[in-house]
Amino acid sequence: MTCSFRCPGSRIFDAVTIQADLSDGYAPGGAPGPGAPTPGPADPPPTHPLYSRLDPRPLPPRPVRAPRTAPRTAPRKAPRRAPRGTARRAPVAAPPLRLTPVVLGRVLAGGAVLVVGLWLVQAEPSMRLDALFATLAHLSGLLGGYGILVMLLLMARVPAVEHGVGADRLARWHALGGRHVLTLCLAHTVFALCGYAAHTGTDVLRAAVGLMGYPGLAAAAIATALLTAVGVTSARTARRRLRHETWRGVHLLTYVSAALAFAHQLSGPDLAGGPVAVWVWTLLHTTVGTLLVWYRLVVPVRQALRHGLRVTEVRIEGPDVVSVVMRGVGLDALRAEPGQFFRWRFLHRRLWRTALPFSLSAPVRDDTLRITVKACGDHTRRIRRLRPGVRVLATGPFGALTAHRRTRRKVLLLAGGVGITPMRALFETLPGGPGDLTLLYRAGNAAQLVLREELEGIAAARGAALHYLLGPSDGPFDPLAPRALRDLVPDLVEHDVYLCGPPGMSRAAAAALERAGVPANRIHSEQFTF
Ligand SMILES: Cc1cc2nc3c(=O)[nH]c(=O)nc-3n(C[C@H](O)[C@H](O)[C@H](O)COP(=O)(O)OP(=O)(O)OC[C@H]3O[C@@H](n4cnc5c(N)ncnc54)[C@H](O)[C@@H]3O)c2cc1C
Repeated sequence: MTCSFRCPGSRIFDAVTIQADLSDGYAPGGAPGPGAPTPGPADPPPTHPLYSRLDPRPLPPRPVRAPRTAPRTAPRKAPRRAPRGTARRAPVAAPPLRLTPVVLGRVLAGGAVLVVGLWLVQAEPSMRLDALFATLAHLSGLLGGYGILVMLLLMARVPAVEHGVGADRLARWHALGGRHVLTLCLAHTVFALCGYAAHTGTDVLRAAVGLMGYPGLAAAAIATALLTAVGVTSARTARRRLRHETWRGVHLLTYVSAALAFAHQLSGPDLAGGPVAVWVWTLLHTTVGTLLVWYRLVVPVRQALRHGLRVTEVRIEGPDVVSVVMRGVGLDALRAEPGQFFRWRFLHRRLWRTALPFSLSAPVRDDTLRITVKACGDHTRRIRRLRPGVRVLATGPFGALTAHRRTRRKVLLLAGGVGITPMRALFETLPGGPGDLTLLYRAGNAAQLVLREELEGIAAARGAALHYLLGPSDGPFDPLAPRALRDLVPDLVEHDVYLCGPPGMSRAAAAALERAGVPANRIHSEQFTF
């Protein structure tokens, strides 16, 4: 066991290093002084209830391949049935399906190419001004309609997408894509107006009035107006000023807008190419609509009825931080993985209106879930006042910051502030032997560290390294600079890195890790903002 306090150059930064090693008998709950007796290897395991069932399984050894020339000694296929008299193995649950960002990106890009192909098939080359406007309106309309569908799909909370791509990345794609979709829809409106004005020889205002007489055009106008309202309220400056609930209420208008746009597409000229295009378009919309209803309505209601989740304990972890422990029925069926989060709706006065995202701060066990929440706004402040017995509607699990992303034996977990919550769950459960896991926990000062006793207990039990990096974020020494990171974790480039913290810290840490030699595809991060 080593326990060192280092102040490189100044007193502003403290790296508190707890290099736990089972062989030196480190006990949870604090670092022993220099004169502390060194217990033997037969020390009892930690007794904290949360890790009494700790399972520090080592990574399975790599299978050793037989040389190609070696004769086969085993039959090619296992017999289908177990021989009589032998016990049958319990069925192993299939691993959850996950769509990677690359695969999803390719599928969506492929869809866009097909849409352009549909336009090309229908386009009639002409040098007339009205025809030029019409064909541009056609292309932007088709791509805009497809874009709306994609935006809805990204937010449909389909598990294979959520667990493979990650909710924060999906939200970023949605925000970026939403801007382009709005631009396409507005461009479609302008091109259609100009085309009609050129065709009829009138001005744009009269063209607008004239166009309203066509089927589906009034629906299109309302859809565009609603989409514009959604876009304006989602702009960064507007969103900062709006309450989350207000922004969300306006955002829900996207569904109305999508339905009106679909009606316009079916009745308007954009899909007039033939029945196949209409059928495919309708099939796509029906599929996305079904996914939305299923995963955003049916599954949450079913989960609420099935699991009957209630608060059992609210534990103070620090000045602004509480842990909420909840118990339900059959929670294993949720198949929640450490590192994931749920959206929690507490059926309590002044909290029931909103579903807040919080990560699991401990693995699911004994039909119990636990979150750890920092009070930073109206709702999170109210969580402290929850009492045992309050019903909870939890939707999830979501998120892709899980063990499946790991590619290396060695893992560095890097947490900032309340970003420790998913890291705490991963620190306990990621498979690995002594020396495989390192947790760096960045905080302003020691009083801001939460779940400390648990972290130290896990480090001790697993032979993992735990370093507290303390000091203000604007101090002269940056503990997350490439050199400082390499000092703390000398074989840093051999690690997968899991990163969770405030957006500024996460960005800076990811950049520093890359500069220190960790490839970008081995830095797995999640942001606590959508
Ligand atoms: C994937 C994820 C996991 C998270 N895990 C944790 C955790 O384990 N512990 C923890 O303390 N915090 C966690 N957070 C952050 C936490 O969700 C926010 O701090 C909390 O929602 C703020 O709510 P508020 O009303 O108290 O604050 P406000 O001041 O009202 O809101 C602050 C900001 O939080 C966001 N926010 C508010 N309400 C919602 C909502 N219903 N849905 C989505 N975002 C919202 C908005 O961006 C808002 O601007 C997580 C966030 C995400 C996205």
